[in-house]
Amino acid sequence: MKDGPPHVAMLATPGMGHLIPLAELAKRLAARHGATATLLTFASTASATQRAFLASLPPCVSNETLPPVDLSDLPHDALIETLMSEECARSLPALSNILAEMRRTTRLMAFVTDPFGIDTFDIARDAGMVGRRCLFFPGSLHALTLMLHLPELVVSVPGEFRDLAEPVRLPGCVPIPGPDVISPLQDRSSPAYSLMVHLAERFLEADAILVNSFDAAEPEVAAVLRQPKPGRPPVYHIGPLILTSSDNITSHASDTAPQPPRAACLEWLDRQPARSVIFVSFGSGGTLPAEQMRELALGLELSGQHFLWVVRSPSDDGSLSGNYYDSESKKDPFAYLPEGFVERTKDVGLLLPSWAPQIEVLVHEATGGFLTHCGWNSTLESLVHGVPMVAWPLYAEQRLNAVMLSEGVGAAIRLPEMKEKETIAVAVRELMAGEGKGAAVRAKVAELKKAAAEGLREGGAATTALDEVVKNWVGEN
Ligand code: UDP
Repeated sequence: MKDGPPHVAMLATPGMGHLIPLAELAKRLAARHGATATLLTFASTASATQRAFLASLPPCVSNETLPPVDLSDLPHDALIETLMSEECARSLPALSNILAEMRRTTRLMAFVTDPFGIDTFDIARDAGMVGRRCLFFPGSLHALTLMLHLPELVVSVPGEFRDLAEPVRLPGCVPIPGPDVISPLQDRSSPAYSLMVHLAERFLEADAILVNSFDAAEPEVAAVLRQPKPGRPPVYHIGPLILTSSDNITSHASDTAPQPPRAACLEWLDRQPARSVIFVSFGSGGTLPAEQMRELALGLELSGQHFLWVVRSPSDDGSLSGNYYDSESKKDPFAYLPEGFVERTKDVGLLLPSWAPQIEVLVHEATGGFLTHCGWNSTLESLVHGVPMVAWPLYAEQRLNAVMLSEGVGAAIRLPEMKEKETIAVAVRELMAGEGKGAAVRAKVAELKKAAAEGLREGGAATTALDEVVKNWVGEN
């Protein structure tokens, strides 16, 4: 047995949405179990944002970037999912060497990967991680359930999900309308579809699935997943694991849209009445088509509410995930706003190009609502800080999250499919001040805030789940 603390190897495929919660998991393992961890990342995402984030982590969490691999043969319009899994597949030899070295020099206790890295399981087995290969699922229990049932849905669902007349019904889940099933599953002929089915099949090889959610947010499905099921790995609800500060993930300023000093938006919030501001942001990569950006601007103005909006220029091709690998606007995003909008709303609104210190904004007492793309990290951050949501999902699993939040637990008001200024204004006003649905959503979110904190305390559900995972790792060692 080697000296030193137990060590965990964690593979984070591209995207801050994978890296951030894995880093938080590493910090919890260090604080509670005295473990150290290496976050293994890919060269394609070694952006300034990612580098700054990794550099900010405590010494117990180190980083190793896998050597770059050539992806130039992939079609220029290859989907994000394809890029991620190809980069992973081509990095397997390097990863194998790294794990072998880690095993030689540390007390390697476990291997954890996010879903897109699951093809590394064979290598992890060869590195001696039998019984200790874990899937970290950075999404909701609803999304996990969908993936776990995917191999059978592929057979039972004829045609495309989006054409289904009836919603998809899964154990413990809110019925999921076909168009709200995750976006890579919406086209059976797409490589992303086959990839998701492949990943889902391999989920079953995990020795444990650690999922970044908590029971109160998705009570019925949580109860189902807590029950052991033959043939399915045990599922541990270890969330919510979220950033504690946005300090280290501030995007670097772009040339075309210089950012104000980041404290400026917090100072602006200091001057707004309590719970009066709706924060508007579409995650690290979400972009709106130009005409929807205009409707949003006019809807916010019409709502009469104060707002803080992270404005990003529309992507050239009209895609919703145009900036996934790089959150900066390439053009001046303000140029796309309706004429006179900035001047007319200057007393009630603040616009930020590209990026905001989201955690500090959500914590601020002036923030009373969050118009969000329903990325899972943003969702958890909103719940942890007790901020009710207006749901405007864009891509990936965001529509599914919107269903679960609005139709399930009741923590959000979802915008209708046709997003026009009037419908946006009505939803924003209802969330911030409405006495009907708005009041119910605000009360529910306050309840969930307490439940989330409860779970992470000593003896809380998330803490106990992680203790159990580590106990199993040590037992296998
Ligand atoms: N984020 C931020 N400022 C921004 C946009 C995003 O700090 O202007 C952070 C946010 O707090 C969250 C993450 O980036 O931790 C976005 O993750 P999420 O899963 O919500 O969405 P994704 O970016 O993966 O679509």
